[in-house]
Amino acid sequence: MSLDLTRRDLILADHLIDGRWCGAAAGARFAVTDPADGSLVSEVPDASAEDARAAVDAAQRALPAWRAKPARERAQVLKRWHAAILAHQEDLGRLISREQGKPLAEGRGEIAYAASYVEWFAEQAVRANGEVIPAPVGGRRLLALREPVGVVAVITPWNFPAAMIARKIAPALAAGCTVVGKPAEDTPLTSLALARLAQEAGVPDGVLNLVTASRAQAAAVVDVWLADARVRKISFTGSTPVGKHLARASADTLKRLSLELGGNAPFLVFDDADLDAAVQGLMASKFRNGGQTCVCPNRIYVQDGVHDAFVDKLAGRVAALKVGPASAADSQIGPMINARAVDKIARHVEDAVAQGARVVTGGRRLEALGPNYYAPTVLAGATPRMQLSCEETFGPVAPVFRFRDEAEVLALANDTPFGLAAYFYTRDIARAHRVASALESGIVGVNEGAISTDVAPFGGVKESGYGREGSVHGLDDYLQIKYVCEGGL
Ligand code: NAD
Repeated sequence: MSLDLTRRDLILADHLIDGRWCGAAAGARFAVTDPADGSLVSEVPDASAEDARAAVDAAQRALPAWRAKPARERAQVLKRWHAAILAHQEDLGRLISREQGKPLAEGRGEIAYAASYVEWFAEQAVRANGEVIPAPVGGRRLLALREPVGVVAVITPWNFPAAMIARKIAPALAAGCTVVGKPAEDTPLTSLALARLAQEAGVPDGVLNLVTASRAQAAAVVDVWLADARVRKISFTGSTPVGKHLARASADTLKRLSLELGGNAPFLVFDDADLDAAVQGLMASKFRNGGQTCVCPNRIYVQDGVHDAFVDKLAGRVAALKVGPASAADSQIGPMINARAVDKIARHVEDAVAQGARVVTGGRRLEALGPNYYAPTVLAGATPRMQLSCEETFGPVAPVFRFRDEAEVLALANDTPFGLAAYFYTRDIARAHRVASALESGIVGVNEGAISTDVAPFGGVKESGYGREGSVHGLDDYLQIKYVCEGGL
């Protein structure tokens, strides 16, 4: 199987409804641009309610045959899709870098990461076992069957254009659900390319439908899915305000929901930590994708005894990061996704400095590179009332807070409505167990900054949402239990 990703007419300028690549019913289009320089990458359909309804019609029609297929056959389709994604890793990686801005090595890495979920759920498809329950009275057999929930709507953000959508579509298809999806408006092209490969891998017409829509049209599309009782589940990754809106608006049809929302991850460094390992872990988790990840540390708490040494080591590493477009082979930090994102970062840094933080390195826009670049930054003297302590900065800014003892830092770390990821570094085994238990988050990295993997459950608590992606639990979100009571045996 081969796919020519340069054939824009084929995959980069149409969306997919009922197996057909087409424009929006109303004919509208919107531009997708390269965040590195604002150049036009493609123009894709700007869907309206009509396209959204057509996608559900197709998904509903395709559901009976897809859910009836033996799990082994659905798994085979997913395995072919997995192989096709890896066969196109280079092209897909370039496409991500072009529309999203991350350095090419990270673009390639994201494709491998996205593919790992497809493989994992191909393997899990055949393990959706039910139960036989010992009957309380004679002459009966009680069964708990696990069935696909039905048509699933998936809505994804721009920061991981391949991984976020792959880890929703793969379990949905594995479970026997059909899908309507809307990728983020900044980065629809990677999703369209993945859908094209899925089609070539044998996903039948109507089983996977993707519509593209501009920011202005996003709500019009998703509102149709929210109101349609045939859509039985929504899986959303994105910001907490939009997630809350989806939760409220799903109430009338009581849809199942998986919500992977914003984070505000704390990163704790205790006096007894291996400082070099802690700096390395922070570099890996904070500066990946230019700090535009939901699990990246947003608040760095360092204990008194190692504070100054840690800040020195960190600043040395951060100042050496190479910033530039994805097209430059040595870039380690690309552009931010858009001007709004850079403005937010600048606002957070200005607010912190106005409240007494000290810029150790960075702290400025890099206008010579373009309007979307911001220098990798370390701030010392951060305090809890600063904006960057209360909400995600979503950029390459590492604010360092100083703390005295474990009780104090746990209170600070947990003092947030969010609870996605948390990290800490210590060499004290008792503290490792204690702090891992005390942190209010869905994911904890202990002496480790790179925590994401297809085999482990990914998801949050508190206002970071609910549901888990990946792992043996990831399929459950797309299955419902039917109890069958057989009598008269
Ligand atoms: P966003 O919430 O603005 O957009 C996400 C998606 O929702 C996009 O497809 C967008 O078009 C759509 N959308 C926007 N407004 C909508 C509306 N009114 N109705 C229906 N759909 C709407 O988020 P973003 O800026 O694209 O992504 C960044 C956010 O995503 C951050 O908060 C980040 O933490 C979060 N995120 C979370 C995870 C996770 O797994 N928890 C992973 C990646 C990103």
